[in-house]
Amino acid sequence: MISMRNVQKHFGDLHVLRDIDIEIPRGQVVVVLGPSGSGKSTLCRTINRLEPIDSGEIRIEGQLLPEEGRDLARLRSDVGMVFQSFNLFAHKTILQNVTIGPIKVRKQSKADAEKQSLGLLERVGVEAQKDKYPAQLSGGQQQRVAIARSLAMGPKVLLFDEPTSALDPEMVSEVLDVMVSLAKEGMTMVVVTHEMGFARKAADRILFMADGAIVEDTDPESFFTAPESDRARDFLSKIL
Ligand code: ADP
Ligand code: MG
Repeated sequence: MISMRNVQKHFGDLHVLRDIDIEIPRGQVVVVLGPSGSGKSTLCRTINRLEPIDSGEIRIEGQLLPEEGRDLARLRSDVGMVFQSFNLFAHKTILQNVTIGPIKVRKQSKADAEKQSLGLLERVGVEAQKDKYPAQLSGGQQQRVAIARSLAMGPKVLLFDEPTSALDPEMVSEVLDVMVSLAKEGMTMVVVTHEMGFARKAADRILFMADGAIVEDTDPESFFTAPESDRARDFLSKIL
């Protein structure tokens, strides 16, 4: 589903992605771990082309990532992204936040988009809030709306960049529960998170990054019980 071959990226002198070579099959849930500044967000952002790469190749279902134009809009609807800051439209209702993509990009009728969006809001447990504005919702509710908004585009892949880091602790699990159910339904997901409980429970695979490189690429059980690198051991000793 996602293929990255020899991907390199610099920010000036900083080598932020070093020779990234990964294949992510359909339905796999990949959790990306690593210290702050190791390149996790940049990795996600290159997958939906929010950041260009210097060299190498990224393919989604075999298709090279487009450089610009209409193809880029299509790519963005195939590869959804959920950010730490929920980025909802403040002056649109919850329902309008979810229907806008399908109407504008997917060219769905308003009626079809609303029907589908209500179903998605129900699935993430916030249908009762449909006529409110984002500021009237809790952070956990807003993040669930953001997930529904991504799902409304019918993505092939969902990227999550620290989706619970901005939330009050009591709201973390309501968002993680939605992510766990998506994982169980077979969504292909790349998740940057510090939630080790989620990583152990939902991940099929752990990528551990340090200094822009993927240092470990393994299953959660091996990673948490027998990390191979000093960097990963050091990281785990600080968070567990
Ligand atoms: P992580 O998500 O693992 O914390 P990032 O991918 O955000 O790491 O950042 C990796 C490195 O790249 C950091 O040193 C960061 O300061 C740097 N960086 C990120 N974005 C930019 C940018 N737009 N311009 C310059 N440097 C950046
Ligand atoms: Mg980051």
